[in-house]
Amino acid sequence: MAKPIVAIVGRPNVGKSTFFNRIAGKRISIVEDKPGVTRDRIYTEAEWLNNTFTMIDTGGIEPDTQDIILSQMRRQAEIAIETADVIVFMVDGREGLTASDEDVANMLRRTKKPVLLVVNKIDTKDLPSSFYDFYQLGLGEPIPISSVNSLGLGDLLDEIIAKFPEDRDEIYEDDTIKVAVIGKPNVGKSSIINTILGEERVIVSDIAGTTRDAIDTPFTHEEDKYVFIDTAGIRRKSRIHENIEKYSVIRSFTAVDRADVCLLVIDASEGVTEQDTKIAGYAHEQGKSTIIVVNKWDVVEKDTHTMNQYIKDIKDKLSFMLYAPILFVSAKTKQRMYQILETIKFVSNQHAMRVQTGMLNDIIGEATLLNQPPSDKGKRLKIYYATQVSVRPPTFIIFINDRELTHFSYTRYLENKIREAFGFEGTPIWIQYREKG
Ligand code: GDP
Ligand code: GDP
Repeated sequence: MAKPIVAIVGRPNVGKSTFFNRIAGKRISIVEDKPGVTRDRIYTEAEWLNNTFTMIDTGGIEPDTQDIILSQMRRQAEIAIETADVIVFMVDGREGLTASDEDVANMLRRTKKPVLLVVNKIDTKDLPSSFYDFYQLGLGEPIPISSVNSLGLGDLLDEIIAKFPEDRDEIYEDDTIKVAVIGKPNVGKSSIINTILGEERVIVSDIAGTTRDAIDTPFTHEEDKYVFIDTAGIRRKSRIHENIEKYSVIRSFTAVDRADVCLLVIDASEGVTEQDTKIAGYAHEQGKSTIIVVNKWDVVEKDTHTMNQYIKDIKDKLSFMLYAPILFVSAKTKQRMYQILETIKFVSNQHAMRVQTGMLNDIIGEATLLNQPPSDKGKRLKIYYATQVSVRPPTFIIFINDRELTHFSYTRYLENKIREAFGFEGTPIWIQYREKG
């Protein structure tokens, strides 16, 4: 399930980082760090009453030296509006209302996203009379807290989680294929999406209801239902500062969480970047299927070896997902674009494929005859039985005598045998061992 994103916006010194640390450190446990973005110290995974969410401190962006506070605050607000599901706008209760608070409030009032106005540094139970000035911001009831004294934090967190969007995934029928289009800015994601949606036989569905749903683009093609996940930020090009790039990575992670199939778009003139490797690694770990789309193939000067060189380079850099099909397309000239939907459908079926237990055990039996399981100190790994326990991703349990005797290279060997027999193209395979006495 997708984790909602909460962004904290506010002037310097209102107490954003104090609050952030409070929440992350005490009331809430830090669940995990995602690869790649942790270094920037801009966000953390947090949990409150069984709700996991991602919290962004927009003040954590490195300030541009010539930047005046106001323009920096505007940028923070833009980032929050662009990426967050809930925005926490923090003001300073000791200093009272300032002109730049009003400026930011003007921006935040225009977003349809929920905004909570939080007045920090209210260290005692009595509200100062200046507290009431904050009503003028037109952002609803100001919520008093003291980050230093940990006052009001629980109530605030309750309000935050109450504003989370409902589970968007429930609005789609089970047979809808959920696709996340991921990749760096400017690789051609929106061009690819728009080209596919512009195709004659593709019918973009109207989705009734809330604006929040409009972040997705559902459509049908030859009776099959699809949805491009979280396309809002992709299709409507943002004019926002480059700093947004870091935040676009966070959005990609949550899009991957909700997807079945990920289209990792790579610019042919650039090849696989470090950021691609990270997001691909995340999709792999989360058990999502992936298709690698090399776009802008029209700009590459080609000879007979070019495509193979690209394939080799991609397989080197993304060696953990050799299962991913690689497509070479051009959204500009429409070259091979028809392959994208075909491959999405194919890979989605592979992701959900269930194999027969009898056939599976025949394959494993043959594999162990061909190449004996590993042994250690005279004791050999015995494989009794294998069964597929789930799909999306295909997950297998292998019953064995002793877990200590398993070895990743043998597991990979078994995985390859399973793939040879059944395919499972585009999808990771999970193999788990159970000891059986
Ligand atoms: P940021 O720039 O918005 O991240 O603000 P900081 O978290 O760095 O806090 C700025 C100053 O305000 C620090 O000296 C904090 O100790 C202080 N501060 C933060 N929260 C509170 C609070 O709830 N009450 C009081 N009295 N001071 C606070
Ligand atoms: P996004 O930021 O990943 O959504 O990328 P866009 O779809 O906005 O594309 C970025 C730029 O690349 C635009 O100027 C597009 O016109 C251009 N572009 C997209 N696809 C192709 C392609 O296949 N070939 C060429 N030559 N340019 C492309």
